[in-house]
Amino acid sequence: MKEYPVEKNQQIIVVITDLTHEGLGVAKIDGYPIFIENALIGEEVKALVVKVGNKFGYGKVLELLTESPDRQPLANLDLLRTGIAPLGHLKYEKQLLFKQQQIEKDLARIAKLPEVPVLPTIGMANPVGYRNKAQVPVRKIDGQLEIGFYRKNSHDVVPIEDFVIQDPKIDEALQTIKAILCRFNVKPYNETDNSGFLRNIIIRRGHYSHEMMVTLVTRLEKFFKGKELAEQIAKELPEVVSVIQNVNEKVTNVILGDKEILLYGKHYIEDQLLDNKFAISSRSFYQVNTLQTEFLYQTAFDFAGLTKEDVVVDAYSGIGTIGLSLAKRVGHVYGVEVIAEAVADAKMNALLNDIDNADYKLGSAEKMMAKWVADGIKPSVVFVDPPRKGLTNSLIDSIAESDPSRVIYISCNPATLARDLKLFADLGYQAEKIQPVDLFPQTYHIESVTLLTKRA
Ligand code: SAH
Repeated sequence: MKEYPVEKNQQIIVVITDLTHEGLGVAKIDGYPIFIENALIGEEVKALVVKVGNKFGYGKVLELLTESPDRQPLANLDLLRTGIAPLGHLKYEKQLLFKQQQIEKDLARIAKLPEVPVLPTIGMANPVGYRNKAQVPVRKIDGQLEIGFYRKNSHDVVPIEDFVIQDPKIDEALQTIKAILCRFNVKPYNETDNSGFLRNIIIRRGHYSHEMMVTLVTRLEKFFKGKELAEQIAKELPEVVSVIQNVNEKVTNVILGDKEILLYGKHYIEDQLLDNKFAISSRSFYQVNTLQTEFLYQTAFDFAGLTKEDVVVDAYSGIGTIGLSLAKRVGHVYGVEVIAEAVADAKMNALLNDIDNADYKLGSAEKMMAKWVADGIKPSVVFVDPPRKGLTNSLIDSIAESDPSRVIYISCNPATLARDLKLFADLGYQAEKIQPVDLFPQTYHIESVTLLTKRA
């Protein structure tokens, strides 16, 4: 049996020396790391060891013996327990610094590019109530329909009314919808035996338009009085222009199923971003923090230094927000996206904004980029905005082969960004600077934009 310096259920007094990328305090006993929630660097805590693993353990704060000057009061401990706001106990200016330093660490450790400048994170003046989208599970708790959020690493739902980081109008709407669901006697989903009916509620609210879409994710297609219920929602919430039923019969953690039925109104909402209007349908990706997304894009466009001569690729284009926002400043835009509904939205959004120099294609960025290269398309700027897993080697190779003078990399994961910047460097593309923009205040998620230029 391997010996560990601590045992489960042991009480320890430790000083926190670091924060993990998920915002947990790190204390070391004889070099063995223990991760502790709600504990900041410099704080001395009395903790209970709750788990002892092979390489590290977990502890729970019993008592805070000294308090960090960087600590701010939390509205509610559930915000940490559920992971809704895992950095909610850290002062906002320190959250911004944490994010900048996290990118610097990954650049040094993963990319071996410590010299690339990482600018101070652009934060929000009021870093709460920013999310334009909520996605909440519906469960039965003590015999009653509840909405809330999962306790971290579990499937237990903690009932929550004030989500703090969501648009308060969305929180209000959730309570109204909950009351309607109870009146209509809708059965909450039961995960243990895959029974019951309503699994999740998703709400999106346009930041500028205030148009609201409500998606009800159900286990079965047959929805008794579904249309009546949807009409009641729209009646009590006049901002609602769309109610959609999404059917997900599977035993899965994936929220959305394949089938959608329009219960009320239209199948999309509209919102604005920079100077353009965007239609957003239920299955399309749309950045959750509209104000900060505008700063993010603005930074990306400034980095690119666009002119009418430019031919631009918008890879991982979603509903076309990046390419269409810059289309009027450049010669041509080629977009690619893997979700069919999002591509349809992008095409509609081009029409909606009188843009005729943007082509959006359905497909994987890897295949489409290779095809564009084969077809002789010569982009001068390539924008990439991938999900957390980052880019594939084959896409990076095709981008380099297409020979743009600039690549703008928008990333939501510094670790895969660093990995990919190293690959770009090997192909002659140098990372000039990185600008983090805080799209996710109170959480550990880190968004950034990087300018890469081709070395002469
Ligand atoms: N640029 C958009 C969307 C970014 S999110 C915006 O700013 O709103 C990433 C997008 O990449 C999602 O829409 C996702 O559906 C899409 N995607 C994921 N893997 C892909 C792939 N291999 N090729 C093309 N698009 C992909």
